[in-house]
Amino acid sequence: MRFAGFQKTSLIDYPDRVASVLFSAGCNLRCPYCHNGDLVEGYTGPFHEEVEIIEILLSRKRYIDSVVVSGGEPTMDPGLPAFLEKLRELGFNVKLDTNGLKPDALRECLPYLSYVAMDVKTSIENYPSLGTGDTSQISESIKIIMESGLDYEFRCTAVPGIVELESVRKMGEMVRGAEIFVFQQYKPEKTLDPTYNDIIPHTEEQIREFAAIMENYVEKVLLRV
Ligand code: SF4
Repeated sequence: MRFAGFQKTSLIDYPDRVASVLFSAGCNLRCPYCHNGDLVEGYTGPFHEEVEIIEILLSRKRYIDSVVVSGGEPTMDPGLPAFLEKLRELGFNVKLDTNGLKPDALRECLPYLSYVAMDVKTSIENYPSLGTGDTSQISESIKIIMESGLDYEFRCTAVPGIVELESVRKMGEMVRGAEIFVFQQYKPEKTLDPTYNDIIPHTEEQIREFAAIMENYVEKVLLRV
């Protein structure tokens, strides 16, 4: 496996842990508000090869105990499960960030993971506006994660027009019984669709309203606003 980006230290990407973060290139969605447009479309390099990444991770093991594999969408790379297995064998806690569109790949990764963060971006009927017409995988991935026994979170960037009161109710139904749901604030900058740069984010009060609705469906709602 190879990666388009590598952040050596992060205090915010893995709850309560100090982690390195790896970013894969390519994605099977086209969220108009995506901030990683350069990774999602036509990335041609440079790449960090797996050998190089592992060497750096091992040299930093006294500072970090965890690795986050993010993207783009990492499950698009068939080499992901084997790479995660290596990380696990080397003693790292491993977190995967995924959009949930490839449940079969997710299932293969589970034995090597200690944490999964899956985006639940909007209600099922709104997903075509993010670039996919086939949404059955989203519900399947939610189920796989909830039954996995791993620590996990479902998370949502509260983008106006994509996340509104009615969609939050429907998202609540999608994740009913989950442990943690996180709402994060939308930052209108460097978006894949430039018109999204002009969208005014929801107020914190509005996002708290979303959280109050979601509390009817899940055990705990967190805000990153
Ligand atoms: S926001 Fe995430 S899932 Fe959406 S296009 Fe960007 S990388 Fe892909």
